[in-house]
Amino acid sequence: MIPYGRQQILPEDIKQVVDVLTSDFITQGPKVPAFEKAIANYCQATYAFAVNSATSALHIATLALDIKSGDIVWTSPISFVASANCALYCGASVDFVDINRKTVNICPKELQNKLILAKKNKQLPKVLIVVHMAGLSCDMQRIHQLAQEYNFKIIEDASHAIGGEYQGKKIGNCQYSDMVVFSFHPVKIITTAEGGMVLTNNHQYAQKLAQLRSHGITKDPEQLTANKEQAWYYEQQSLGFNFRMTELQAALGLSQLPRLDVFIEQRQALAKNYLQALKGLPLSFQQQNEQSKSSYHLFLIQLTDESPIDRTTLFNQLRKANIGVNVHYIPIHTQPYYQEIGFNEGDFPQAESYYEQCLSLPLYPDLSKEDFKHIVSTLTDLLSDRK
Ligand SMILES: *Cc1c(COP(=O)(O)O)cnc(C)c1O
Repeated sequence: MIPYGRQQILPEDIKQVVDVLTSDFITQGPKVPAFEKAIANYCQATYAFAVNSATSALHIATLALDIKSGDIVWTSPISFVASANCALYCGASVDFVDINRKTVNICPKELQNKLILAKKNKQLPKVLIVVHMAGLSCDMQRIHQLAQEYNFKIIEDASHAIGGEYQGKKIGNCQYSDMVVFSFHPVKIITTAEGGMVLTNNHQYAQKLAQLRSHGITKDPEQLTANKEQAWYYEQQSLGFNFRMTELQAALGLSQLPRLDVFIEQRQALAKNYLQALKGLPLSFQQQNEQSKSSYHLFLIQLTDESPIDRTTLFNQLRKANIGVNVHYIPIHTQPYYQEIGFNEGDFPQAESYYEQCLSLPLYPDLSKEDFKHIVSTLTDLLSDRK
């Protein structure tokens, strides 16, 4: 089966990881801070904290913004469940902002309308978690304006988007947000097997993030409450976790990072080829814009009304042809867990109708020409009207 996404592991990656195994530190050594520094530098952000997953990154990001019981967090219904779960981990409540069908990102107009209503009802969110779907940045400038007007913080769930750009700058620079989160899961753009990172330009958030990922403990002289001389002295100042990334993971990430821009170019070239090859079929594609350069974590297609078959049939037929298409995503609010806490089908109609029509085609740097041809010709056969 051709997968929808796949990591690229080269001999040099293997060497870097094996070298760590025989070194003094397999955790809490020099590789993690080196990886953090390299990513912060790449994105032009001030601080970066590596953790064991993007899910953990979202969790500590939300905690660092002091989200707790009684607070409200908004996010997109078209995302992986982790984008919403992080608020629930903190005891807050979650609500969603419907998407724009064309960009598949949170709709700024819908956000504005929801904010006006929320202000009237005294239900304004404390944090908005935007999701750059498939690697295409949300309209961050507009959303940032709304954040200032309605006084909420912004976390960018950029799990799909490392290497992408917005207004000519790398996603991750935190220009229009308080924090940015990346995922290094193998289907994402670069990988550490499992892994994630939080970036911020805010010193206070940085101190909180550093603590939260490691038991709430600090040794930083600047943060200690007592002036202890002893070298062993440390303080637990908050209730943190062990969300640390290992040295093996950081070594893999460091080894992958120099190829990031090439990965993005390869993904963009493949996307361009798909757009060219699928022209004329009853499909619509995620609408790009001049402000953004997508990292193309996913190549999303949506069936139009002219399609001779429905999405489920198309999915099954493609899988039968050994093409590992996937669906991103089942709207979060329709998950049984979210239905149980009060959401209903019909709550976010754009997300739900998108879900009925969407598929993700295989897209990764090592996708072969042959596989690409097979995907295109199978799709063309299935979607051409052969009356
Ligand atoms: C993959 C993903 C996550 C979770 O990432 P992990 O590193 O697997 O925890 C969160 N949000 C989005 C949008 C994702 O795609």
